[in-house]
Amino acid sequence: MPEVVDHLAEMTGFRDRDVMDVTLVSALRDLLEPLSVAIYRCVGDAGQERWLTRARLESGDAVATADPLWADPSSLPLASAFPLRLNCLHSRVMQQQAQGGQWLTLFPIATDREVVGVVELLTGEALSPTLQRMVGSVLRIYHNFQGLLDYSERDTLTGLLNRKTFEDSFLKAVSEAPLRPDATPSEDGRRHEALRPQHYLGVIDIDHFKRVNDNFGHLIGDEVLLLLSRLMRSSFRFHDLLYRFGGEEFVALIRCDDADDAAQAFERLRVNTERYVFPQVGHITVSVGFTLIRGGDSPSSAFDRADKAVYFSKQAGRNQVHSHAELVAAGRMKERAELSAVELF
Ligand code: GH3
Ligand code: MG
Ligand code: MG
Repeated sequence: MPEVVDHLAEMTGFRDRDVMDVTLVSALRDLLEPLSVAIYRCVGDAGQERWLTRARLESGDAVATADPLWADPSSLPLASAFPLRLNCLHSRVMQQQAQGGQWLTLFPIATDREVVGVVELLTGEALSPTLQRMVGSVLRIYHNFQGLLDYSERDTLTGLLNRKTFEDSFLKAVSEAPLRPDATPSEDGRRHEALRPQHYLGVIDIDHFKRVNDNFGHLIGDEVLLLLSRLMRSSFRFHDLLYRFGGEEFVALIRCDDADDAAQAFERLRVNTERYVFPQVGHITVSVGFTLIRGGDSPSSAFDRADKAVYFSKQAGRNQVHSHAELVAAGRMKERAELSAVELF
């Protein structure tokens, strides 16, 4: 029993989901000594969902393994290839004898909004009802703690990340970026810089949103914000970070191969929004501006560039996507003068 309490203390000692998932599988391994234990999350577009390994430990492993968050979705196993996990998502705890007489036991992991994944245990013997209850209790604490994290990090209306968390996750996403596997090292040895993947920051602002509120009332306006957040989720990839910055302004921090890739992602959102029929309101549009995140960028300098490009989209007639770099290259916008960065201080 003290062992269980120790593990719970460790699991809830961090405000970082990656670390929490690793401590959860470590705890379950120490408590149950299974052949393997893993947390899988179901990610991706409807009909094309895949399993992302959040943390996995086999009995002899010293450290947990995980898929990187930026894993190419097509490299992950299809959800349909593991029907027991899918069943677990839709019901409750599943237990089944696997090949070789071993036992698989699966527990669903849910947030307050939806079931997002499963814990899968492979054991030599079937897990007794008492042990199943213990795992269930550990998962309830995990669930409650995740709920607290959500409460402080997420916007209550849309469930998107809130503005408060932008700076931290901006710095984390940019610093954790992996080397690009497709690039070859440059001869001067500056491999690191040359191989960094690219992150883009987009600002998304609803066009004439005041009219929605004026014509249909705030409640319907809120419903539009919620539906737009769903369009954002389905327009970007699962590892992209999506924020509601306040009011009817949204931010997406996305990882792309190049500027065309980023433009396509934002254009996809623009088109999806334009086509969607919002209940009562009908059609709305969004204006978008985006920018490449550069080495040495601060969250606010990157945001500033994207925001200027949104302003341009608005001036140019709304329902458009513009890249800051392209506007500067085309002479339609001035790059912020070096001096003004100094003036800020
Ligand atoms: P533009 O195309 O220039 O962006 O026009 P706009 O009307 O969208 O922009 P403006 O900034 O003038 O107005 C934004 C409006 O968004 C003002 C306010 O009524 C509305 N709004 C802000 N926050 C919320 C919210 O949380 N819920 C609802 N329903 N409306 C909000
Ligand atoms: Mg607006
Ligand atoms: Mg606005």
